[in-house]
Amino acid sequence: MKNNLTNIDPCFTLDNLPCGALVTDAEHVILNVNAYFANELYWDINLLIGHKVEIILTKASKVFYQSYLMPMLLHEKNCEEIQLSIVNGNGKRIPITVNAKVDANKKIYWSFFTASNRNKLYDELIQAREKLELQTKELKELASIDELTGLLNRREIKSRSTFVLSQLTSDQHPISILMIDIDFFKSINDNYGHTEGDRVLKELGRVLMNCGRKRDLISRYGGEEFLILLPDTDLEQAVIFANRLHNSVSTILIDGKPLTISVGISLFDEEMSFEEAVNEADTALYKAKDLGRNRTEVFSLA
Ligand code: GH3
Ligand code: MG
Ligand code: MG
Repeated sequence: MKNNLTNIDPCFTLDNLPCGALVTDAEHVILNVNAYFANELYWDINLLIGHKVEIILTKASKVFYQSYLMPMLLHEKNCEEIQLSIVNGNGKRIPITVNAKVDANKKIYWSFFTASNRNKLYDELIQAREKLELQTKELKELASIDELTGLLNRREIKSRSTFVLSQLTSDQHPISILMIDIDFFKSINDNYGHTEGDRVLKELGRVLMNCGRKRDLISRYGGEEFLILLPDTDLEQAVIFANRLHNSVSTILIDGKPLTISVGISLFDEEMSFEEAVNEADTALYKAKDLGRNRTEVFSLA
């Protein structure tokens, strides 16, 4: 094609362009390529001329080319910013962006822009997203788990229990709740120090975990208070569970003496809020303390 511009640089040539330029005929056979294919993509140009353009495409791009790009060029006569992968003369896979245009003689004029940074940026984006997801998970755990014992914290058991209760209907299995308080914990701190107190809290957390089933909700509700929600558990079964707790807790020794806890139990009914159930368990707990500690009491109105 003749150029009408008068001040055109005589050195201007397709070989100076920092992108691949390629021409194919109507059968997609390569007629011409610029020097970019030799200099930057390490192809022997003689291996390209006379071959179908698929020679430079990866397997996946070949399928895409035949099923999408060829029909598109046939109908639209051009395509823009198509993402493909080619192989260079050394067999290395290179992501590229392609524009192509078909002329009146059905020749196709292609420009290839390598897009290695596109994949690099994409990979970085994926990595950043994975990192963010991990941090979100860690933050979520921090917000829901008690740091010292690894049990659920007060906020988490409250929200999970409220959800469990919202699903409760009269024909469902019973749910019991246990409020647990360490006996004379202040004196453990006073006599053996805060670090020993913390060890006892951790040990108790471990014991509670081991006694519970997978679906039980076990939490550190406050300083030395623990709240447990037992699904599918009536009062009788909850008392059996509490007695098991008393036995297991007695394996925790402080200066050779077994640790003891007091336990208050209440049974949820469908009318009850989480707070009401906790208050009932608390009332039963105070009764256990009043009656001499190291025991379990069940809430009753009497
Ligand atoms: P009671 O048998 O009536 O429950 O007596 P108690 O001494 O256990 O009860 P009190 O409420 O007087 O003492 C609770 C103590 O728990 C007071 C507080 O210093 C201690 N405590 C609370 N949180 C922690 C903690 O994270 N670590 C340690 N080491 N002590 C804690
Ligand atoms: Mg207490
Ligand atoms: Mg206590």
